[in-house]
Amino acid sequence: MWNEPRPRLRSVTVRYALLMGAITASLLLASGLLEMLFSYRDARQQISTLQTLQARAAAAEIEQYMATARTVLRSVSALPWGQPGFELEQRRAELQRLMVLLPAAIDLTVIGRQGQELLFISRTEPDRMGARKAVLKLPLNLSNLAAGEFGVGPTSFQGDAQPLVQLAQADAAPSGALTLLTLNLRFLGDVIARLRVGELGQIYLVDERNHLIAHPRATHVLRKLDLGQHDAIRSARQALSQASAMSAVDTVDIEGRPVTSTAVALAVPGWLLFVEQPSAEVLRPLSSALLRTAGLVAAGLALAVAASLLFARHMAGPIVRLRQATQGMARGDFAARVQQERHDELGQLAQDFNLMAAQLQSSYAGLEARIVERTRELAQARDAAERASAAKTRFLATASHDLRQPMHTIGLLATVLRAELRERRALKVAEKLQACVQLMEALFSSLLDISKLDAGGVRVVPQSFAVNELLERMVQAFEPQAQEKRLTLRVRSCKAMVHTDAALLERVLSNLVANALQYTQHGGVLVGCRRRGQLLALQVWDTGSGISSAQTDAIFEEFYRIDAAGSHRTGLGLGLSIVKRSVELMGHQLRLCSLPGRGSLFEVLLPCAAVEAAAVTQQSTADQLPGAFVLLIDDHEDNRLALEALCLKWGCHVVAVESAAAALSALQGHLRTPDLLLTDFHLGSGPDGLCAVQTLRDSLAEPLPALLITAEQDTGIQARAQALGVQVLHKPVGPQLLHGLANALLAAAARHRRDDGG
Ligand code: ADP
Repeated sequence: MWNEPRPRLRSVTVRYALLMGAITASLLLASGLLEMLFSYRDARQQISTLQTLQARAAAAEIEQYMATARTVLRSVSALPWGQPGFELEQRRAELQRLMVLLPAAIDLTVIGRQGQELLFISRTEPDRMGARKAVLKLPLNLSNLAAGEFGVGPTSFQGDAQPLVQLAQADAAPSGALTLLTLNLRFLGDVIARLRVGELGQIYLVDERNHLIAHPRATHVLRKLDLGQHDAIRSARQALSQASAMSAVDTVDIEGRPVTSTAVALAVPGWLLFVEQPSAEVLRPLSSALLRTAGLVAAGLALAVAASLLFARHMAGPIVRLRQATQGMARGDFAARVQQERHDELGQLAQDFNLMAAQLQSSYAGLEARIVERTRELAQARDAAERASAAKTRFLATASHDLRQPMHTIGLLATVLRAELRERRALKVAEKLQACVQLMEALFSSLLDISKLDAGGVRVVPQSFAVNELLERMVQAFEPQAQEKRLTLRVRSCKAMVHTDAALLERVLSNLVANALQYTQHGGVLVGCRRRGQLLALQVWDTGSGISSAQTDAIFEEFYRIDAAGSHRTGLGLGLSIVKRSVELMGHQLRLCSLPGRGSLFEVLLPCAAVEAAAVTQQSTADQLPGAFVLLIDDHEDNRLALEALCLKWGCHVVAVESAAAALSALQGHLRTPDLLLTDFHLGSGPDGLCAVQTLRDSLAEPLPALLITAEQDTGIQARAQALGVQVLHKPVGPQLLHGLANALLAAAARHRRDDGG
């Protein structure tokens, strides 16, 4: 949990400042943008209004000029022409006066009712009076004017020169004629050229056919431009057709420059007047307003960020101090406190933290004292346990040695006693005594073994040895028991060498074989080996009662027994737990396969040694003991006597002495050298049994087979015995086992002699 990667820390102050800054900046930006939008719209509105006003003023001037022309024309036409005193000659004089009043007038024509020219006055041609009889063709709107009506004709261009327009005024008299005035429209150009629109703005005029008829640049007019496709004109015509207001339009002028243009309609039907100004000039006040607003927004933003930072520092400061104090506490500084200056929730938090820290500090101090106290108590308890364990170990050592010794003697004596007795009842008692002694030996061995395992007193000394030796000893030890129960005990010989603790493995195998024989009523027991790669499976098969799968774990627990109907309670339920713990101690594996009612297989998986043993076939050994010369060394008199009696019973020739020195002197009086040496390990204050073996072998100059019988469990003894090739038996040793082993040693020696001789 503590090793989980921590997420990257982001400072509260920075977060706060960022958040506040972002909010304020967004608000400022939004308000700035809105402000700019509204300013833009207002400015556009103002520009539109201003341009409209300018256009109207210009239109008013043009209209004024046209109105003057009309007034003058009407004043002449209103006279009672045709009446006496108002002859054509007078009219000519009036018209000449009119020409003087209207400098833009080019010519004046009076047309009769039938359309014939009555009078013609021009600035460029000679006057004509009633000279032409031909009917003049007039534009439609002018040809049907009623008496006293005024009309404006379409514009036209005189050759490639100036644009012209014709104004017509019908006489007021019912039989009156029509006065036609041709005006040079250049005068309009002069009018609009005089009018100023901003610095670079200009005004121009188009007629009903969208022809440019007045422009400050006369050359544009002379080009007779049709501006029907021009954006500004199209939108103005559209507004006109929809009778809606004409507003400012962003477009390009005749020369392709971006402009803002506004139009107004003139009193002359179809004529439009445009005011246009370069966009840059129009937007100049707007862009400076926008710049101002942007500057204000930027300044506001900077202020907002600074204020947010200050505010965030103010808010996050106490949290940061709280964090530092918490980190201090995490490092074990329980005296860490937070300064508390505020009177708000953060101040309250700091106060609560300080309170909690004070409580933690005092609990920690109490805890430390308690830990010291508990540690002291635990140390005392550990010392007591160690003392108890030492006492237990001492007891075990004593019990192992001192109790095994008499137990061993009793066992041997009971066997001898049974052999000595002839009377039936006494024999029965002796048999029972012997059975009880055997049982007691077994129970006692189990108890001592488990206690020793408990106390950790068993040390594993691995060595390489031929597994067959172990198998042979199983036959020798358990054959009698198998025969007694009418069971077959078969051991399959094996060439393998294994590497493990020989004594512990023998204990394991003995327990398994003993159990197999005990829990099998019919059939038999098979002991053998199987190779499993680098491992060897040491197997004990039986055809006994089997074990149900529900109990395959429990049987390995201490003091657990299956109380099957009819079974005698002879064990303590320790055998398999000794097996399991010994196997674990050696680092091997134990497996069990069992079918209730069919039998069981217990197997131990152990490592093979590098070398293979010579094949040893199991042979049923003939009894070698009768007549054999057995040398017995034991300083303990009872033991010596019991062993001697046993060997005599087996038909051996026995020399029993208490030390190696005594043995050497006793052998002086014998012609034969001994066939077998049985010796105790402790031989009073003299050299021990293994030294005795060495001394005797040296003096006899023969590889005397020897068996060491000891109550010691010391692995050092085991190792020394191994080096000398001496078999070790641990007390109490049952007579059957002793018989079997002694027999095996004698047989092996006989084989060697035969082999050497052959
Ligand atoms: P004990 O033999 O002293 O009862 P063990 O620990 O050796 O104790 O065995 C525990 C139990 O396991 C025995 O009571 C017996 O019921 C059962 N058991 C052991 N070995 C065998 C076997 N080969 N076949 C059937 N049951 C067995």
